This record gives sequence, structure tokens and C-alpha cells, in this order.
Amino acid sequence: MKIVKNIKCLQEIVFQIKKKKQSIGFIPTMGSLHAGHLSLIEAAASENDFTICSIYINPTQFNDKNDFNTYPRSYETDIELLKSLDCDLVFLPNDKEMYPSNKSIVNYNFTFCMNILEGEKRPGHFSGVINIVNTLFNLTRPSRAYFGEKDYQQLWIIKSFVKNFQLPIKIRSCPTIRDSTGLALSSRNDNLNKEEKVQAIHLFKTLQNFKLNLESKSPKGGIIDLKKNSIDFFTKNSLIKLDYIEIIDEENFSFVTRIKKNIKYRILIAAHVGRTRLIDNIPIG
Ligand code: AMP
Repeated sequence: MKIVKNIKCLQEIVFQIKKKKQSIGFIPTMGSLHAGHLSLIEAAASENDFTICSIYINPTQFNDKNDFNTYPRSYETDIELLKSLDCDLVFLPNDKEMYPSNKSIVNYNFTFCMNILEGEKRPGHFSGVINIVNTLFNLTRPSRAYFGEKDYQQLWIIKSFVKNFQLPIKIRSCPTIRDSTGLALSSRNDNLNKEEKVQAIHLFKTLQNFKLNLESKSPKGGIIDLKKNSIDFFTKNSLIKLDYIEIIDEENFSFVTRIKKNIKYRILIAAHVGRTRLIDNIPIG
């Protein structure tokens, strides 16, 4: 596996791959790799000639300095892990490479979706994501790029980015990988203590209860009642502070208060567990 830190070197390798008309599969990450990331790398390796993974903690997508400072970092372990997989190249740029002083940061706002839920709670977050993803797409020139459903809103926005700007890249979505308790794997889980980890399971449990109720033939109330129950439940739990729980139509990302047959929906949740903010989602329908 090639370890590349420098843009020129990356561009030269990408140029050679493209010259051979080989396909490139690309997985952008912020490191502290876990089985969720690895599933994306495996998916990329299975359908491309050359797999590139990037590890870069992008400062412009953090609206909270403390979150950026405490974001887990484990570059050496990550590289060892990647070596054991079918990853051909890891790109590990520094801030100077990604944001040279003469580069301007673009304020993206091409879909309403960038301003709701995560976009509302974390102002500027999605614009920061698109800035870095766009740069990384330009450098790696992938045929396919891989993103996790774990960050469902991000995935939706990236799909709309590619469509809007007519980029010749196929976006592949990969299912959320969970631990044995149902907790969605996340690099931020490393910041949870033992008790917080136990509490964090309530995010997935709440989503599951919601789904079971809505998909059952005799639901105990509608979406509004279910939301109220969840809010009540979290209000009583001093270790978790609910940010939101919402149901959206997967097609257009609109909020819904009633579900219909043959339409795909997602329930999305975000909560602070202690000092750590976690997000999760599951499909319905
Ligand atoms: P991150 O390093 O958190 O920026 O994530 C890099 C990519 O991995 C994103 O596309 C995430 O959606 C994806 N990802 C993170 N956690 C998981 C998970 N538990 N299952 C599947 N994909 C994930």
C-alpha cells in the first residue's frame, strides 16, 4: 500500500492509473478507522481496479472547536489496518496541502437540505464537507466514491452535489455497521466512557421502537405521539440530551408526519451523550 502525503505525488499516481483506463474507488474518512470504514473500503476494492482511502480531519466542517480538538486521532493504527486490507493507496494530507493560503473556501448552499437538522445544529458543517469532498474528488478523480448511510444527510447532500454539478462520479451508499448492542460504529464512540456507552444504545433502541410501531398493523399512535414519547423518555435521562428525532421522505428529504405505503422513509436521531454528540438513522418502509 502506498502512503502519500503530497498532492503532486497523488496526482501523478492518479494520472498513471487513468492512463491505463483503470477505475478508481475512493473512500474519504477522518480516520480512527473501525469496521464501518472497512466495509466501505471492501466495497470499493470489490468493484474497482485501484482503491484510494483518504484520512484527513477537515477543520472547515467543525463548527465546534472543542469537537475538532477532541476528535480521535490514531494515524499509525489506521495505516496498519489499511495495510491488512485491499487498499492500494492512503492519502494523508496536512492542512497546508488541503488549504494553502491562496485557496478560498467556497460557501456552498445548493440544497435546502444543507440548512436543516445537522445543517441547522452545526452551521457551516455541510459547506465544509463539500469543500473538502470536492477537492478530494478533483485530486483522486474516482469512478466511484463510497459513503456510509450512518451519515445519511451527508450522503443525501453528496448525491445532490454530484447531480447538481454534473460530476462523472458514481456515489455508492453502504449500510451502517453496528456493534453487538446495536450502537452504530463511530470514531466519536472512542470518547464515550463505560456508562455513556450503555446510555448511547438508547439512540438505536429509540429508532427501532419507532420503526416497529410505524410498521406494525396496529400502531400505538402516530409519528407525533411517538416523537413526544421519545422526547419525554430522553428528558428523564440526565446523561442524554436529544437534539432531534425526525422522519423524512428519502426521495426529497421532506419532513413527514404520516407514512404511506410503498414510499421509503428514514428516521434520523441526534443526541449528546455526555459531551459526545452522536447521530444515527434507520430506514422505514
Ligand atoms: P468519517 O471518518 O466519520 O468522516 O466517516 C467516513 C465515512 O465512513 C463516511 O462516509 C461515513 O458515513 C462512513 N461511516 C462512518 N461510520 C460508519 C458505520 N458505522 N457504518 C458504515 N459507514 C460508516
